[in-house]
Amino acid sequence: MSLSLFNTLGRTIQEFKSIKEGYAGFYGCGPTVYNYAHIGNLRAYITHDILTRVLRRRGYKVTHVMNITDVGHLSGDNDEGDDKMVKSAEERGKSVLEIAEFYTKAFFNDTARLNITTPDIVCKATEHIPEMISLIKKIEEHGFTYREGGNLYFDVAKFPHYAELARLKLDGQKAGARTGIDGNKRNPGDFVLWFTKSKFENQALVWDSPWGRGYPGWHIECAAMSMKYLGEQFDIHAGGIDHIQIHHSNEIAEAEAASGKHPWVRYWIHNEFLVLDKGKMSKSGGGFITLQSLIDEGFDPLDYRYFLLGAHYRTQLQFSPESLNGARNARRSLVSQIRNLVQKANLPLEKLTDRQIDGKAGEYCAAFDQALDDDLSIPRALASLWAVLKDSSVLPQDALAAAFDMDSVLGLKLAEEALDKTESMEEDAAFTAEIDVLIAERAEAKKAKDFKKADAVRDSLKARGIILEDHPGGTTWKRI
Ligand code: AMP
Ligand code: ZN
Repeated sequence: MSLSLFNTLGRTIQEFKSIKEGYAGFYGCGPTVYNYAHIGNLRAYITHDILTRVLRRRGYKVTHVMNITDVGHLSGDNDEGDDKMVKSAEERGKSVLEIAEFYTKAFFNDTARLNITTPDIVCKATEHIPEMISLIKKIEEHGFTYREGGNLYFDVAKFPHYAELARLKLDGQKAGARTGIDGNKRNPGDFVLWFTKSKFENQALVWDSPWGRGYPGWHIECAAMSMKYLGEQFDIHAGGIDHIQIHHSNEIAEAEAASGKHPWVRYWIHNEFLVLDKGKMSKSGGGFITLQSLIDEGFDPLDYRYFLLGAHYRTQLQFSPESLNGARNARRSLVSQIRNLVQKANLPLEKLTDRQIDGKAGEYCAAFDQALDDDLSIPRALASLWAVLKDSSVLPQDALAAAFDMDSVLGLKLAEEALDKTESMEEDAAFTAEIDVLIAERAEAKKAKDFKKADAVRDSLKARGIILEDHPGGTTWKRI
């Protein structure tokens, strides 16, 4: 079997065939750095990380490019609302560049804590304005633009493939029907390539251009930077599903209008959303959960990584403290299991990581790889990891060699965690199990209306420095 991926372009699982043999060019849309990333955004970057790791495991030399959007992204993807960076800078009394620098650092701090591999190329929009201008010039030369109200627009009616990625039905829509407001647009799908005089005149960063002093629209950033580093056509482009309808459809229009080549990108990969039980998580709407807030609650960032690996990237995943707690317990027992095997194998780590994997352990690795090839089915791949660790007919050293090999994709730092933190992890695992039992006893007592007993459990835990928090779906705990 070879690697197959679900391609949004076509909506089918397709065998991955790169343009150049043995090489994969991959662009993943990066963050807009006006605030911390929320844990939903981080799901997108975990997906990109897994994809890159799998491509490398399949022997591809990969160039993974990620942009940093530090200009031009408005609160509505389709040119509506405030400029996210300007608004954040005003609210915080800082300059746009200060805001960008602060949140870019915070973003890479988060990705490092989640053991996400840093992309090969990280490129800032503000450092690629000449590339954007020259791409827009080509689009204009090829007749796809018009000027209105001081801005330069892309005319989607001129681009025959516009509806392809998102399967949009454009007929019969009036200007403003999809977008809401911008009366300058001839068509609701039209979008700004370059802003000059408009309601966004308070933009802090502006540049000279053939269309006047102003700044680029958001979509042209990704089109220009991806083409600069990966060429006029490349293999994979990824982002969250919210980007299909506007951002990625617009990027395709820009890139293909400029180059005249179709298709611009062969495979479009989109991750589903992480949602809260209350609904969507949004970066601009506030009230979002950050990785740091999970750490403050006593979770390890890898607990969150493990939590995400438990769901296929194309299924919507509901976040709750209880389910994260479950992931923490599972990851702890995984590390304990590894530790037990390390003790049994009684060999230095290098002997385990370099070991030839064959026999039954090899079969588990083959099942693992088959799951990866089947559109990155990580939950199934994880099941192979658990299975090899639990199979007592596999020698400990073989099970460990398989686990460490699988971890090159899972990124759970199994070798490191097992060696560095083993004793405390084992203690923690026992401690967690004990608390879980007490929480269950308290729930039983409450059900039986034995509130005296329920309170006694709560008090005894409090005396040990643990406080309980009741939620609609159950009870979690944290250290005082
Ligand atoms: P942004 O910084 O808002 O441009 O978003 C960064 C990435 O996170 C994009 O690929 C979005 O599609 C993705 N994204 C946004 N919200 C979520 C969510 N709740 N779950 C998963 N991915 C998301
Ligand atoms: Zn993008």
